[in-house]
Amino acid sequence: MSQENARKGVWRKIYGDAFVGGEAYRNLAYLCDSIGNRFAGTPGDGAARAFVLRKFQDYGLPAREEPLSFLAWQRGTASGAVVEPTNYTFQTISLGYSAATPTEGLVGEPVFLDYGHPRDFEAAGEHLRGKIAFVMEGSAPGDRFVHRSEKTGLAIERGAAAYLNMNNTPGGLPLTGTCRFGQASPIPCAGITKENGEMLKRLLDSGLPVKVRLVLDNAFRESTSANVVAEIPGTDKADEIVVAGGHLDAWDIAQGALDNGSGAVAVLEAARLLSAFRGQLRRTVRFIAFGLEEIGLIGSTRYAEIHREELPLIKAMINLDIVGVPVRFNAEGFDTLVPFLDELRAGLPELELEPASAGLGLHSDHLPFALAGIPCITLPSRQPNTGGLATYHNYIDTLDKVSRRSLCEASALVACALYALATYDSFPVKQKTPEEVKETLVKHDCVEALKAEGRFPV
Ligand SMILES: [Zn+2]
Repeated sequence: MSQENARKGVWRKIYGDAFVGGEAYRNLAYLCDSIGNRFAGTPGDGAARAFVLRKFQDYGLPAREEPLSFLAWQRGTASGAVVEPTNYTFQTISLGYSAATPTEGLVGEPVFLDYGHPRDFEAAGEHLRGKIAFVMEGSAPGDRFVHRSEKTGLAIERGAAAYLNMNNTPGGLPLTGTCRFGQASPIPCAGITKENGEMLKRLLDSGLPVKVRLVLDNAFRESTSANVVAEIPGTDKADEIVVAGGHLDAWDIAQGALDNGSGAVAVLEAARLLSAFRGQLRRTVRFIAFGLEEIGLIGSTRYAEIHREELPLIKAMINLDIVGVPVRFNAEGFDTLVPFLDELRAGLPELELEPASAGLGLHSDHLPFALAGIPCITLPSRQPNTGGLATYHNYIDTLDKVSRRSLCEASALVACALYALATYDSFPVKQKTPEEVKETLVKHDCVEALKAEGRFPV
């Protein structure tokens, strides 16, 4: 039998197993409806890890927790209001790692900085000192992506007293999300809705003096969490490793069904699907449910530190963060990986995947691996069940938004990709040298962002 026909047999079995009797949705329903929120350091975080560990073991994979200690953040109450030239209360939410305000609140003058591109902060100059940086979520069309934590970094640098993040999608929902990577923010940072942000912009445009009061009650404490790690040992190339990972933790205000219950159960389901091929996988396939992603990629960053000596053996890493119906593979800044991904795509024409892309994202668990020079793959997806609502980092990221079919599709495709990566004769792509990693960061315009976020690594 030709290799191509043998592969087709494998793909057929994987897709059949995923769609008939697949467990991804059932596992996600358990995480969402039976465990409660999986925020870092909460009881739900621990219960979710125990569930995932047991599932890996049920699928016949040796599995373990690798403990992590970290600075946990605890959300308290949050309120915000315009107090001049009128009185109007805003729906307000603290950003992760935000400082608390004094109990009586912090009153300040908002300074509008558009989307918070570095040039907007530069234009504000000294004017921001002691005031409230007021910024829209997202980036202006045509600009590079500017993450919230880059904007807060710039606000802190310029002496702002607080940071106010306005959602950029309508619907009356404020967004949360971390404002610093794995460390306490020295200033209070909060989110408000698009609608309230628009009102604030109008007041500022009116030329009257405007003041906002923020009352945020947050706390910090030392805590522990863990990465959950399982593997299928390889055969003749067992010392070479292929990794599939996705974060298990989620924000405290919702079920984290899409972000990232979907990715975590897809990792688990890929493990179940591939367990049927034990003894045929030449390389070792390692599955990781990362902890502590939302508050600053802590689980994956620590994993890469603790396993530093093993990193040269990792041939590729697939990171799943918010999966749905796969649209294409993305080779996170790794152009030489694209032909491999397109060959995989050509073998599964019914999926109608777009050609692979190679953009580099800085805000999920592949980053520590990509910075170590490892070829990383992500799976840009579409979500058929959200009804057009923006679920990202707010209250409505719930199980009803998840398409069962999309979980089957994503899990099966990841299992096929892992199978291909684990059985390739000689792996066609080499790791990048530290010099090449630096060149990639420059090419993808990432240096300025990583510096402002306080995590420029190389
Ligand atoms: Zn995520």
